[in-house]
Amino acid sequence: MLIDLHCHTRPLSQCSALSPEQVVALARARGLDGICLTEHDRWWDLAVLDELRERTAFPIFHGVELTTDIGHVLAFGLPATPAPLATIEAAFAAAESVGGVLFLAHPARDGLLKVDHRTVEYFASVEAINGSDSRLQNIAATGLAHGFRLPGIGGSDAHTPAEVGRAATRFDHAVAGDEALVAALLAGAYSAVLLE
Ligand SMILES: [Zn+2]
Ligand SMILES: [Zn+2]
Repeated sequence: MLIDLHCHTRPLSQCSALSPEQVVALARARGLDGICLTEHDRWWDLAVLDELRERTAFPIFHGVELTTDIGHVLAFGLPATPAPLATIEAAFAAAESVGGVLFLAHPARDGLLKVDHRTVEYFASVEAINGSDSRLQNIAATGLAHGFRLPGIGGSDAHTPAEVGRAATRFDHAVAGDEALVAALLAGAYSAVLLE
């Protein structure tokens, strides 16, 4: 099952040119089996999300991309928090309390590989392939992922139509629902793929 684990839509991610319906239509046309909405520091209202799921009849998962002191963090299984999770310590504590899972997003962007003691302490793994990063950045990120207990994930980081589905995560088994996604991410039976 092929899921693009990193997608941004308007209006929750103001930097994105994509409507949620557009992402679904493009993902479907490009052969993906599901997408995960990971807005910047914003969670979807669950009733609105359920309505979107019903209307599109497409597997839509729900995560978030947190802006923290050590960079962008993709979080899965983390419910909306009243205050922003601006430090990696706060994000990790929130994830720990609910059994959520954190991945360091695009770890080789900005010209340097984000490696320090906190990198391995707080993350299940890293985003090994990001559709918006260069080949060299993805090679570096994939190399970093090899040092973790779990394989790296893949996602497009789509903000425009052309980017949807450029990268994804291939799961060995079918994944149904957000709880199953977290379980699958912790089980490790997946790999990051670049799709062009
Ligand atoms: Zn990011
Ligand atoms: Zn992003």
